This record gives sequence, structure tokens and C-alpha cells, in this order.
Amino acid sequence: MQYRDYGREGYQVSTFGMGCMRLPRRERPDGTVEVDREKAYELLRYAADHGVNYFDTAFGYHGGDSERVVGEALEGERRKRVHIATKQPFAAMTDASTIRRNLENTLKKLRTDYLDVYLIHNIQAPAWPEIQRRDILNEYEKFKQEGLIRAIGFSYHGGLDTFRQVLSYYPWAMCQVQQNLLDSAKEVTEEGVRLAGEKGCALVIMEPLRGGGLASAPSQVQAVYDGYPVRRSAAEWAFRYMIDQPQVSCILSGVTTLDQLKDNLRIFSAPDAVPGCLSEQDRRLLQRAKAAYESRVTIPCTGCEYCLPCPQGVAIPAVFQRYNAGEMFQDYNNPRRSYLFLKRAGKDASRCVACGACQQKCPQHIPIIESLKTAHAKLDGWRE
Ligand code: SF4
Ligand code: SF4
Repeated sequence: MQYRDYGREGYQVSTFGMGCMRLPRRERPDGTVEVDREKAYELLRYAADHGVNYFDTAFGYHGGDSERVVGEALEGERRKRVHIATKQPFAAMTDASTIRRNLENTLKKLRTDYLDVYLIHNIQAPAWPEIQRRDILNEYEKFKQEGLIRAIGFSYHGGLDTFRQVLSYYPWAMCQVQQNLLDSAKEVTEEGVRLAGEKGCALVIMEPLRGGGLASAPSQVQAVYDGYPVRRSAAEWAFRYMIDQPQVSCILSGVTTLDQLKDNLRIFSAPDAVPGCLSEQDRRLLQRAKAAYESRVTIPCTGCEYCLPCPQGVAIPAVFQRYNAGEMFQDYNNPRRSYLFLKRAGKDASRCVACGACQQKCPQHIPIIESLKTAHAKLDGWRE
């Protein structure tokens, strides 16, 4: 396993970090699903026993069960060898006593006296002013002084401007952002990665395979890889795109099976799985692969949001983004799962009443009403 400095914290973490939001699941007799504990224990312990020393979970993963399963699997001697990062969502931070109670609950579930890193989960532009106004970081500072947490970080989804503001607001020990081959010009972009590096903030990457999609290579993409003299799997190329970047401390991967885990261990243990691992030729290959993935986008939505707001609350570009991801990767698992969250928030395509208000505003002339129906038919039905 390769290891890298974790920002200014004075220790190193495995370049591959175990993401705990896609643990193996099984169906209950009543048709609902739950974490398959035996398989999850096997995965988590195998990782901890084969060089992985960074585990990332959150208050809400697997309906609150992920922290519990991680605690059960790693309790005892393994806990001492690994670093555990978990997160509290701003939506659950009703007041100071609730924030504290949430942390205490998390510590209990994780069967530990302290967290190595405690994150504010998923800071987004609309919530950021309120997080500052309520001085949430002051509560986190108290936890740190009491030894309940050892470092403070945040996870972030969104654009570069707000990321820049959040990053410069506080001397964060770490930040966790989405980056991958397809998002180099999206989310925080390559510029955000560079900024985090300049700040000396440990940079943890989530979604390096874009929800697992980049692990598969549809025929157009496979043809690009097949024409190259160096043979690697699609997942390995996508991981190496992130491994190449020196600002990155840890790359999270949410493995579900032991085979996936073993493959990740192989990829991240290679002697050359280090910053600067890509040649110029490799980089050109990855740009061609990226173009091949993007050629599979079937609804030409640019995410401009001119169609919003929809009076029924339909998150039109978010629906199309999920549909396009499913088509691009020929794998609907992750898009369907994240569509469930959109549905729970009352923003899915089934809310559309075909009023037509959005269609006239779309500069891409997308037949939004019909496209929403197509997307919904493909995306609906995930059970959690
Ligand atoms: S047509 Fe549907 S998606 Fe478009 S604005 Fe009306 S309700 Fe919303
Ligand atoms: S206006 Fe059209 S292109 Fe822009 S976000 Fe809406 S559907 Fe997508």
C-alpha cells in the first residue's frame, strides 16, 4: 500500500481510503434492505489487515447503520491502527446540544472514544452563510479541546467560488471533494484541488469512479483503451488519474465486494502508484477516454438551470444528470440510488404536471416533459 501525508496532521494515510457508504446489502423478508453485516465485517477487516488505515463514514450512510457496522467491525486492536473520519450533516444541527448529542451517538455507534476527523457534511452554497452565522465551528472547536475529535474538516459538493470561500474561512485540517476524470472542469475543478494543496489542507477525494460508473468501459471507451499499448482496467485508469495529483492525500473508494477490494489493494500498492505516475501519452489517452464517455450523453442538458424554478419543485437538471450518468456508464445502480434521495426531497420527475413552463426557457430545446418521463422510467425503483 502506498501512503501519503495527511495535510499538516503529522501522520500518513493509505492512498486508498475505505468509503463506507456502499457496504454490501441484503434483502429482508419484507422486501426492505439492510447492510449484510457478515460480508461488511469481512470487507472492513480485510481492508484494515491489508494496509488500509483510513475509513470514511457518515451519520446518514446506510440510514445511520454505516457508523454502527464500522464500529462493530473495527472495535479493539484494529481501531488503534486506523483513522476514522465521519460527518454530521448541517440539517441535523438543530442547536448546540443536538450537535453534541449527535456526536455522542456517533462515538457510541463507532465504539470509540474519539474521532480522528469530524467533518461538517456536504457544505453547499445555500447553507454556507448559515453555518457561519450559527458559528458551528465553535461547537466543533469545543469537541476538539475535550479530545472527542482530533481534527476538523468538511465535505463539499458544488462549484469553485463557494469552495474558495469555505477553504479560506478556517484553518481546516482536511477537506473532502468530488473529483474524477469526468469532473476535472466541474465541482471544485482542478483549480480547487490546487488551492487545497496550497493551503496544506489534507485533500480527500470522493467519487473517483463517479459512483462506480468509471469502473465500466462501454464499447466506445473500451475501444480507446484497447488501442493503447499499456493495458489497464477502466477502474485502474480512473484511479491513476487521481493518484497522479500530488495535492491528494487519500482517494476514497466505496467497495462492495471482496474482489473489488482486492483489486483496489493491488492498484494502490503498485510501486508507481505515486504522484506523477501518468506520462504525457497517458494523459492524452485519458482525455480521449473522457471524450468517449461524454459522447454517450443522450439528453444534452448543460445544467444551466434556466428552466428552474419548476413550480412543482422538479429538479430538472439533476434528474437529467442522473439519467445521463446511467446511459454513459451503462450502469444505473448509482444514479437510481441517488434518484431515491431526490424523490425523498420531493424533486423527482414524477412531480411534473406537464405545465410546459420550463420547455420554452431551455436554450438546448430539450423536450423536457417527455425526457423527464423517459428518465423517471429508468431511474425509479431503488430500495434502500
Ligand atoms: S413541465 Fe413539469 S418540469 Fe416543467 S415546469 Fe411544468 S411541472 Fe415543472
Ligand atoms: S434549461 Fe435545458 S439545458 Fe438548462 S438545465 Fe434546464 S433542461 Fe438543462
